[in-house]
Amino acid sequence: MLRLPRRLAVLSTHTSPLARAGTTKAGGMNVYVAELSRQLGAMGWDVDVFTRRDRADAPCVETLAPGVRLFHVAAGPTEPLPPIEVAGHVTEFTEGVAELTSGNDHYDLVHSHYWVSGLSGVELARRWQSPHVAMFHTLGAVKQMFQEPEPGLRIAGERRVVDCSDAVISATAHERAFLIGQYGAEASRVQVVPCGLDLNKFHPNGTEAARRRVAEVLPELGALDGPGILFVGRLEPAKGADLLVRALPMIEQRCDATLWIVGGDERDESERTRLRQLAEAGGVGERVRFASAVGREQLPDLYRAASVCAVPSAYESFGLVAVEAMASGTPSVATRVGGLASTISHGETGMLVSQRRPELFARAIGRLLSDDPLRTRMGSAAVDGMRLFAWPRVAASILDVYEGLLRERNASDRQRESCCPDPVESLLVAAS
Ligand code: UDP
Repeated sequence: MLRLPRRLAVLSTHTSPLARAGTTKAGGMNVYVAELSRQLGAMGWDVDVFTRRDRADAPCVETLAPGVRLFHVAAGPTEPLPPIEVAGHVTEFTEGVAELTSGNDHYDLVHSHYWVSGLSGVELARRWQSPHVAMFHTLGAVKQMFQEPEPGLRIAGERRVVDCSDAVISATAHERAFLIGQYGAEASRVQVVPCGLDLNKFHPNGTEAARRRVAEVLPELGALDGPGILFVGRLEPAKGADLLVRALPMIEQRCDATLWIVGGDERDESERTRLRQLAEAGGVGERVRFASAVGREQLPDLYRAASVCAVPSAYESFGLVAVEAMASGTPSVATRVGGLASTISHGETGMLVSQRRPELFARAIGRLLSDDPLRTRMGSAAVDGMRLFAWPRVAASILDVYEGLLRERNASDRQRESCCPDPVESLLVAAS
């Protein structure tokens, strides 16, 4: 039997698990780090999460949940920075964590999230002689393929993290194939564990009652009395809210459907204006409604209140929104990419659309909106299907990875000694 409690260091350098998901760069990863840490805390682990201090009034340390502390580590200016700029402060961050924890023996294991954290994770794990588990959430090479060019530093940083980690956890087989094929990861070191879902939160609980509650807290969505198409997420082009605005007038079957675009904050006002203009131009200005990002406590009702949840993303490494909606009993209509292609079962729990074309989304959404029995059938199949992602099950799989590594610690220590001897600065210099 392994000794308990185990001490885990979690690195979430560029963004805090407390950041509001659905705004700028905060999304699925923030939700994931907070939830996994809570789960492990509840399972008896001592979890310390480290994030970069991005506001001057952040406390040095705060309690996130029983057994889980969050440290804000000074590294660079105390203001939000894009991830690529945070990468320039990795050494400071690493030293900051080392200093904060210098009174402790060590951590049994280090789990880092995103490549920027991974760079610190590799170094801290070496010092503590602990296994390092990396999780990327998105990969630069994949993003490049589906969205936009990524800085060379990111790809080089990811390669280094892949080379120097004891294990990489990937949420889908699709990403695992990339890690092996494009980053040269050793197949036996890449484990697929899907993202987790809080099924106590995300479950069906009556559409009409949910609509009444949503109307109270989000009056900006207007009367929720016809078919409702829900978009939830960051207001960035790759998420495709504009594609839905274009699709709305093409839904022939239900011209009373409204589109609810939920996400972003005051920094996204210009994008909302652009979407409003697009809606006006399409003659559906009255039927497109907006609300800023909502807290986790309001989301389940929002999903339940919707008739369908639409996820027309260019790419999703997992796509939490689609599975949260399905767990709440609402079928998802999404692009057939990344994690979405495996979490949605086409024709059973939702619909997959092979190309990001408004008319194809309009057709799929229209089909669902015009067939209540089909939608109800898919909704309940979706609820059953999403049990696979229940947090207790997912956390147990993550623990299997951890415990396997702890058992082979000696062997992996030897491996780490020979790997990544250069300081992280060499990487920064080489990529600049
Ligand atoms: N989210 C939220 N409030 C919002 C919008 C989004 O809490 O108003 C959460 C959403 O529930 C999901 C996460 O942000 O858990 C987004 O994750 P996803 O994997 O769908 O996309 P990402 O933002 O990671 O690209």
